[in-house]
Amino acid sequence: MIKLKLSALLTIIFFLSFFAQAETGAHFFSEGGEPLLQYETKYQEMLKFYPTSMPEKILVVFTDKDVSKFNTRTNTIYLSRNRFAKMSTYLIAHETSHLALWKYTAGASLDGKFRFFDEGYACIVGNILANRLEEYKHEEALPISATQYKKQNVSFEKVADWKNYFGNPNTADWNFYAYHVGASFNFFILDTYGQQELNHFFLSVGQTRDLESSFQKVFFKSKVEIEAGWLNYLSKIDLSMAQNPYVLTTAPLNNSKSVSINLSEISVTFNTPMLENVIFTSNRCQELCYNNAKWKDSKTLVVTITGKLKANTSYYLTLGSDKYKRYLVSKTGIDMPTYIWKFTTAPAPMNIDPSQ
Ligand SMILES: [Zn+2]
Repeated sequence: MIKLKLSALLTIIFFLSFFAQAETGAHFFSEGGEPLLQYETKYQEMLKFYPTSMPEKILVVFTDKDVSKFNTRTNTIYLSRNRFAKMSTYLIAHETSHLALWKYTAGASLDGKFRFFDEGYACIVGNILANRLEEYKHEEALPISATQYKKQNVSFEKVADWKNYFGNPNTADWNFYAYHVGASFNFFILDTYGQQELNHFFLSVGQTRDLESSFQKVFFKSKVEIEAGWLNYLSKIDLSMAQNPYVLTTAPLNNSKSVSINLSEISVTFNTPMLENVIFTSNRCQELCYNNAKWKDSKTLVVTITGKLKANTSYYLTLGSDKYKRYLVSKTGIDMPTYIWKFTTAPAPMNIDPSQ
């Protein structure tokens, strides 16, 4: 009797949610259950990549964190508000791709061994939806991966150890290049065998949970052969256009004295587009802190001053860290040597008696 009631109740709930969806035509929903029709066109576009594995209902939750994430159990995507403001379509598509590829690969995509192609494909699908595939492929993903290849930092052994290859996104200890190297594997398969074969490979990994078996089944090649093909593909990427990054100018200028304490921000401009990560330390985080550093565009890093600069004080900002071997990096994946930026503020103004 109880069982009957429960199943009847579940049926009712199912029909209610079915009708709610049929009525609105939405697939993305807010935490409160509101249909988010504004993203529906993105859902429809993603069906081209995942005709059979897009979740029917995806919850969208905004967070104050810098990292976005997803939960395949609840079909929820957690989007960083900060990042969403800059790249909404990319972010929705990237996180949703994780949900759909998880389903498509019967859960294999979340295995550390396979995260490289999962993150890589999420980057590719995200950039396709954001209409910047060519730019992403030729100006970021492939040059970055080719640079890592030259450093002998690309192999299946390395990328399959995803925890170490990518690092920890919740601390500063993560490697910017890992996603792009993952994407370069997908680009290699796409350019060599085509989209259909890449899809077959994803499906096959869901069954075999093993790269060697799936490469044999889908491409009739061994893992060693596929790796050699991938590395050869990377060896042919033209890196001659990639410029070494350097600081073009700063405001205030390096080594300047008598800097006004009334500045509200300071900024640094680079010669070439940079990856938008922030690696800097300052001697006085009270006023100038990495927390308040933001990329205004890909060549300009701006630091908002907390309160006011202190009079008659020297500020030292270090862009990059030799100690931790973390550097600011150009979009093409070249590290910028650590840059030290120093300036001194003007002495405190004397009190002037207006009656004199
Ligand atoms: Zn991701």
